[in-house]
Amino acid sequence: MSYLVLARKYRPQTFEDVVKQEHVTRTLANAIVSERVAHAILFSGPRGTGKTTIARILAKAMNCEQGPTPTPCNRCRSCQEITNGNAVDVFEVDGASNNGVDHIRELRENIRYMPAHSRYKIYIIDEVHMLSTAAFNALLKTLEEPPAHVMFLFATTEPHKIPITILSRCQRHDLRRIDLDAVSRHMAFLCQQEGTRIAPETLGLIARESGGSMRDALSLLDQVMSCAQGDISHEQVLDILGVVDQKVLFDMSAAVLAGDVAGILEVIDEVYDHGHNLKELYAALVAHFRNLLVVAMGKNAERLVDVPAHEYALMAEQVRGTSEIYLTRILDILFREESAIRFATDPRLALEMAFIRAFQVKPALSVDTLIQKLDALAGGTYVPPAGGRNHSGGAAANQVRESRPAPESRSGGGAPLRNLGNPAARNAPSPPQAVQATAPRPAADVSDPVAESPPLSAFNPDDPPERSWEKFVERISDRSAPLASCLGKCYLKALTPERLCIQVGGNGFDLKRINKSRELIQQVCDAFFGRSAELEIIAGDRGAQTDDKKKKINQVHQKRQAALNHPLVEAALEIFDGTLVDVKIL
Ligand SMILES: [Zn+2]
Repeated sequence: MSYLVLARKYRPQTFEDVVKQEHVTRTLANAIVSERVAHAILFSGPRGTGKTTIARILAKAMNCEQGPTPTPCNRCRSCQEITNGNAVDVFEVDGASNNGVDHIRELRENIRYMPAHSRYKIYIIDEVHMLSTAAFNALLKTLEEPPAHVMFLFATTEPHKIPITILSRCQRHDLRRIDLDAVSRHMAFLCQQEGTRIAPETLGLIARESGGSMRDALSLLDQVMSCAQGDISHEQVLDILGVVDQKVLFDMSAAVLAGDVAGILEVIDEVYDHGHNLKELYAALVAHFRNLLVVAMGKNAERLVDVPAHEYALMAEQVRGTSEIYLTRILDILFREESAIRFATDPRLALEMAFIRAFQVKPALSVDTLIQKLDALAGGTYVPPAGGRNHSGGAAANQVRESRPAPESRSGGGAPLRNLGNPAARNAPSPPQAVQATAPRPAADVSDPVAESPPLSAFNPDDPPERSWEKFVERISDRSAPLASCLGKCYLKALTPERLCIQVGGNGFDLKRINKSRELIQQVCDAFFGRSAELEIIAGDRGAQTDDKKKKINQVHQKRQAALNHPLVEAALEIFDGTLVDVKIL
């Protein structure tokens, strides 16, 4: 007796035997029971997922002497003929080799005749997308109104190549790719039937090589079984199939994550000596790192990473404590190096270089995140990871603002009005009185401190003078943010609809700037009060500041130290490979 390959020997003969396509088999079974089976059905899906098998079972179900029934008897003449492939009323046509219009015309001629002894004349056209346009057109009319005794069952791996006019005349069923676990389990069952013992990890290896195609998996299993008898070891299978062991991939990822350069070069050397294809190894590695990243991200990982359970556990163990950003950057490098390896004349060298580059990635904050944080810090909108957004945002903004040197003079009747022109800072609840930590000034200059311009506010005689002054500075900030910033450091001496008097604190630079913009201030002042008002700007009293001088110098020193030790600064220095030149207190 001739040897029957596993795929044929164990071809499912009932809907229940079909692996992992319940959504299709259940629908078909229900359609048979309720006598609502379409006369043209298209099965689409990846290779080796059971399209032709399901079509044959459906043919049996329709033509069984006990039927139509969702559970064909597999004993009657019709069932037996279909199983043996010599049914007179079921025609299997290979669309790839019978793709001409003449073949379809011939088919059209034949369908007029009644079936020989069955209920239906069933045409199973495999790879139907290979038919020519003329052939499809010749089929259209027949497909729309076929004789009652005719059924068309199409199978294709590429449904997008089928004209829409054909698709719209068919009931379509999409078969899913079979997950590796299901392929492994099915192979384990067959091994048991055949009296062969293969470890689950080894079956997992074969399943992975099959890429989710049951037919490919069973062909590989056939190959393995024909080379070895009884107990088949993992090493034997690796040798027979000539594939890289999954352990090699785990060894490599472990070496990368541990920063063990020598370790990975050793593994590459081993794989190279073994005669494996390094380009294939690289593709497997990229897929492996992708899986590690998905596992590290955690959400729905088990569904997204199609690996056996024991490998999933290993992956979870390996990425514990490793940041997603780090893995993303490694994967990014591996992706970028892929074309270099594909076209390399010496793939081994290219592979080694790719990994040496991957080693240069250090687990740290990404440059993007860092720049974002620095920008946010400069713009006063930096939000630390912990705490509520609004509250923390305001407090952080204050932190930046508060790190400016305090006004040098405290004499004069008015209270110092700082943080004006920055709504976030102004609304922050109870700002810290003394903040030691400060942040580095980024390379780019500090941007406009006004994040959003508030609507123009009008003078209200009922407001206290401080509130009116806030509104006034808001108006100024709409015209010139730097000027508003200067005014924010001034002291309010008097504010009435007739007269505005401010004392300039800060340094001489502020006084110069305010005097230079006097005309603008006057304009805003007139618009604010709705009349011509007197504007008086007086220089601050510098005498009082000497009292606090020592204390302030001390504070500035402390702020410098805090900035130098700030983790963000350290991270920035490391990432940009820079040196610290100067610390400016903002
Ligand atoms: Zn039967």
